[in-house]
Amino acid sequence: MTELAQQIEAIRAEWGKRLLILGHHYQRASVVAHADETGDSLELARKSGEYGDAERIVFCGVHFMAESADMLSRSEQSVYMPETGAGCPMADMADAGAMAAAWQVLDERGGDWLPVVYVNSTAVIKALCGQNGGLCCTSSNAAKAFQWVLDQGKRIFFLPDEHLGANTAYDLGIADSEVAIYDPRQPQGGLSDETIASAKVIVWKGFCLVHKAFSVEQISQVRDRLPEAKIIVHPESPKEVVRLCDAHGSTAQIIDYVNAAQEGETIVIGTELNLVQRLAEKHRGRLNIKALKPSVCANMAKTNERNLLELLQSWPAAAEIRVDAEVAAEARLSLERMLAL
Ligand code: SF4
Repeated sequence: MTELAQQIEAIRAEWGKRLLILGHHYQRASVVAHADETGDSLELARKSGEYGDAERIVFCGVHFMAESADMLSRSEQSVYMPETGAGCPMADMADAGAMAAAWQVLDERGGDWLPVVYVNSTAVIKALCGQNGGLCCTSSNAAKAFQWVLDQGKRIFFLPDEHLGANTAYDLGIADSEVAIYDPRQPQGGLSDETIASAKVIVWKGFCLVHKAFSVEQISQVRDRLPEAKIIVHPESPKEVVRLCDAHGSTAQIIDYVNAAQEGETIVIGTELNLVQRLAEKHRGRLNIKALKPSVCANMAKTNERNLLELLQSWPAAAEIRVDAEVAAEARLSLERMLAL
């Protein structure tokens, strides 16, 4: 164990159950080694409320995840990040002003829309969604969330990830011609009144750099080199890629897919490299696991043993993540509608 690791473990032992460290699947192995729980963003946010003895929660992930943990934890618990500058570029592609403007456009042209917001979004965007009758979703339950809207005879306004939105619509049998892309940099999202009138789903033009890096060419190369391989990608990948794969799914679904694979199988995975490497390590000797392309989230990588240790030693006030109470109340509406699905 390195010296940094020993110091972190000594502080963890001192705090005992009063300290909870959460590590997202995309964190580096040296950080995950100190986590009490690993998981995707929502699993971890839920855990924060389950550990009743934890006074301080350290979220090793990106900013919107720590916000969700703050909103779903008990009021006497405090949530901290080792590196508060670890944001999510995709979440930041949807700001409150742009979403409000888009909502006004849709409201004036029918009003039969409901917002569905990916948990990879800021608390303010979740609050706007809650205020307008919508709900949050994860990449695991996006199809259920879409169906919840359709069952009410409404149309879906999804943000901030174009690709998860388009892939979910496709999974539900919605034709590409009924899915329109709203570009917040253009007047009226770049959409004509006719396009808005005929769309069943409108998706925000946002993306995750890590998953947008996967391409049709990479899939063709794997099919040529490893014809026996199964390919699974995350649904934040472009729809052309997803449709050529054997399977697609959230991080939790990718883990389940790998766990269920038969001995000796080759599986090529398109998601953040740290998770792929961890799975390859865990199943070494049983499965042959490869990355579709080494794709790393630079923001997830901002957390390391050094800034984790510094946080545990000094607990600076600036490292605490606290969502404004009014914003949190409205954002919780959209999270609770999702949890009730
Ligand atoms: S992997 Fe993508 S969605 Fe996740 S934090 Fe990084 S940029 Fe955001």
